[in-house]
Amino acid sequence: MNLLSPLDPVPAIFNTANRAPLLDVIILLVFRCDWAKYFADLNLIMAQKYQCTICGYIYDPEKGDPDSKIAPGSSFADLPETWTCPQCGAAKDDFKEMK
Ligand SMILES: [Zn+2]
Repeated sequence: MNLLSPLDPVPAIFNTANRAPLLDVIILLVFRCDWAKYFADLNLIMAQKYQCTICGYIYDPEKGDPDSKIAPGSSFADLPETWTCPQCGAAKDDFKEMK
């Protein structure tokens, strides 16, 4: 299956026969558009880990905080202001972004 006519300049990522054409089209569209950076940044924010400066507990958005009924995939910003460190009870303000 070839989505491009032979006359089109074929980007290098299309040259590998084993790749899924649809995936390549998506990659191409994403990297051509300005909002690619927006989504990349958004992903970074969503995956950003925060560490408690009091006890060292790390909030990982991938895991959430089941004890406080925080679903996996919740970013730190999504946590309610009333959320506290599950280990030491420190407030959200006591958490620092991890590099
Ligand atoms: Zn803590």
